[in-house]
Amino acid sequence: MTRKPIIVGNWKMNNDLHETRALLSDIHDRLASKSAQVDVGVAPPATFLAVAGEILADDLILLAAQNVHYADSGAFTGEVSPRMLKSLGVDLVIVGHSERRHYFAETDELVNRKVKAALSVGLVAIVCVGETLEEREAGQTLEKVSTQVRGAFDGLSAQQASTIVLAYEPVWAIGTGRTATPEQAQEVHRALRDLLTELYDAPTADAIRIQYGGSVKPHNAESLLSQPDIDGALVGGASLKGDAFEAIVNAALSNA
Ligand code: PEP
Repeated sequence: MTRKPIIVGNWKMNNDLHETRALLSDIHDRLASKSAQVDVGVAPPATFLAVAGEILADDLILLAAQNVHYADSGAFTGEVSPRMLKSLGVDLVIVGHSERRHYFAETDELVNRKVKAALSVGLVAIVCVGETLEEREAGQTLEKVSTQVRGAFDGLSAQQASTIVLAYEPVWAIGTGRTATPEQAQEVHRALRDLLTELYDAPTADAIRIQYGGSVKPHNAESLLSQPDIDGALVGGASLKGDAFEAIVNAALSNA
């Protein structure tokens, strides 16, 4: 099956309002015309999602949140609910990023609650999994990502699962400039698709897009994205510059 590539920029906690507006406009100008062949999304900080929803109102560039709470509303100071995101025109939400797992102690169980809450309002969840350097060196990569996927997908129907975007992000490659080789990434992506076949069935596993993330840059994007089970990229640092992000989207286009 051919899966439409999906490239999403995770802006993390960067830029003020002025800089955010400028980057949104730049990315829209560069990439809106490519949205028929490649899904392109950006994930600004929560503070700027409302203004981003206005600048990206034609929905050619998808709007993503970096996090979400699992409750619909209530006494959760500082949190943002799925319904709030939906009302801003948000399309996707990143769940279980390794920085959230590491700095904010997010567990597989919490990730699963967030995924279910996101799906319940029609948001697409980008579910992040990945091993640490110690786990890779101990030969535990596949065990680790399999446990994370089983946890995140627990209780989801095949129909729900097929809407999810999975992101394989080795922790040792995030923000380090050290990327997995295309072969290392493909091996894990293939194993994840096999696991999804085991959990659901082959058509469901075939439908799920699996992004790679971890120091994706213009110079390495094409070799990663040409792998058969790599269906896109979750991009951190390189998504903060319009020209670099455009080059990564172009690499996806050349493989689309
Ligand atoms: C990320 O934060 O998801 C990421 C992949 O970051 P970077 O591209 O900077 O490694």
